[in-house]
Amino acid sequence: MASIEQSNVFEIVQIGRRGPNNGPRVRARCSKCRRHFDIRDPSARSLPTEPLAKKLRHIDWECDGAGKKALCTKCRQGGSKPNGKDTVPPAAAPKTPTTTAVKATLAAYKLIGEHYLPDDQRYATGFSDAVIGTKTGLAESVVADMRETEFGPLQVDQEATRLQHDLTAFVKNANEEIKTYADMLDEIKRSLNQQVTELRLKVDDYVGNKKHPR
Ligand SMILES: [Zn+2]
Repeated sequence: MASIEQSNVFEIVQIGRRGPNNGPRVRARCSKCRRHFDIRDPSARSLPTEPLAKKLRHIDWECDGAGKKALCTKCRQGGSKPNGKDTVPPAAAPKTPTTTAVKATLAAYKLIGEHYLPDDQRYATGFSDAVIGTKTGLAESVVADMRETEFGPLQVDQEATRLQHDLTAFVKNANEEIKTYADMLDEIKRSLNQQVTELRLKVDDYVGNKKHPR
């Protein structure tokens, strides 16, 4: 099976510095328009090209199993297919989707530009990749890609991840503490039981002594 190193479509790129939104990822490029799509799954880096091609097909790209050639959704819609079937002459290609797509892309750029705060590496309140995606009709991942490539990463996620870690640590500590108390209670119970048993024996002894010796 072909690997990323042998592929024209896939390459490993490093996004930004460290952080949950950054790091190495597999970037796929459309062979025609060079538009790219990043596969964020960390395990993707060690995959051969066939499962990676499958991921592209999931988002409606076209890609051969060896990762030699890929066509993004737009190039598939706008142009002729490389394998010859369903060939659409360029002149007959409908103009509207392309115009709509360009408008959506421009609108998304505008919205990101207006509401992404590069110094804080976050969106202004009420905005996110998803919100802009909804407003423009683009997929959230497309908006995220535009934002990361042209504007910057999201630190908000880092904060959320940190909180998540804190919470996990807190729950772990709480569970350990609960276990300590439960152990203490067990110990107290055992000790009380023992004392009760000893008392009972003493009482029996006392009563027995009173009954029998005479
Ligand atoms: Zn393309």
